[in-house]
Amino acid sequence: MPNTVLVTGGSGLVGKAIEHIINTEAEGSRFGKLPGEKWIFARSADGDLRDVEQTKKMYEKYKPTHVIHLAALVGGLFKNMKYKLTFLRDNLAINSNVLEISHQNKVEKVISCLSTCVFPDKVEYPLDENKIHIGEPHDSNFGYAYAKRMVDVQDRAYKEEFGDNFTSAIPTNVFGPHDNFQLEDAHVIPALIHKCYLAKQNKTPFVVAGSGKPLRQFIYSYDLAKLFIWMLRSYDDVTPLILSVGEDEEVSIKQVADAIVKAVGFKGEYTFDTTRADGQFRKPASNGKLMGLVGDFKFTPFEDALDNTVAWFVANYENARK
Ligand code: NDP
Repeated sequence: MPNTVLVTGGSGLVGKAIEHIINTEAEGSRFGKLPGEKWIFARSADGDLRDVEQTKKMYEKYKPTHVIHLAALVGGLFKNMKYKLTFLRDNLAINSNVLEISHQNKVEKVISCLSTCVFPDKVEYPLDENKIHIGEPHDSNFGYAYAKRMVDVQDRAYKEEFGDNFTSAIPTNVFGPHDNFQLEDAHVIPALIHKCYLAKQNKTPFVVAGSGKPLRQFIYSYDLAKLFIWMLRSYDDVTPLILSVGEDEEVSIKQVADAIVKAVGFKGEYTFDTTRADGQFRKPASNGKLMGLVGDFKFTPFEDALDNTVAWFVANYENARK
């Protein structure tokens, strides 16, 4: 029987990117559909995964042989700080239901999605796959972080007790088409794109919060999508895998803002509000394990990926999440 791949959270930033790649790469190619393979992209309207009965129904309907589990309650810093219990409870429920119902339905493989937020607050950099559980996560989002960490614990327990092939991926900051472009609640790239777009429309200054000096690793959602597809086919180890560009590809928030100004075509006043907090200066993650396994893989140059994202936002302004 050909494989049926269920992508939970299929309507989000990462899910939409996997849908794009699987439908645009040639059939049978490295990141394209395999002959006869079926891909299902589920959203919350297809079943609320916090509810075990709705989760069971989704599996009865689609009968997946493989699952890429992306669905999560996701949010920016403020939302995470305010709703710690909700982030903990909802994400624990979603992940426990997906893994248990996958187990009961004898799903051949599940790849769940963690985040670099799972790592300890006080840790020696660069982050790597062996450092997840060695200290407390940052207090600001401990609900989300502990719920995600438990996925790794659950994966190992399912493997040791039942031999299930469950594993997880750890992406760094993701950006691309279909992101959440809300001005206050979104991640830095989509929020700045929206802000710069409005500054251009309204002929007002483009003000970036903070000094612009912190460094981050960003991964383009279409590159991440390819890595998920590769993982689905080629990675059978229970230990999580960091999916990221290299440590030498960190970019500063100023470089991000400069690239956005260029891509948006903004010509007005552009400043940094240094009275606003910067957050952590850098938190580099090593992609050494990934690069040792994936073979030939080229990441999209940051500016090209940003240009594509801005072009998507401008073309889809009316319907974008904002
Ligand atoms: P989005 O917020 O863009 O999408 C979230 C997805 O989860 C949507 O499809 C949403 O469905 C679905 N969902 C939320 N709650 C439920 C529920 N109760 N039942 C069923 N489905 C639900 O998230 P991203 O694409 O950005 O994130 C995907 C994964 O990647 C998440 O696990 C996240 O933690 C992780 N991640 C994201 C990073 C980033 O920078 N964005 C960085 C690192 C990790 P609907 O649209 O119908 O509400």
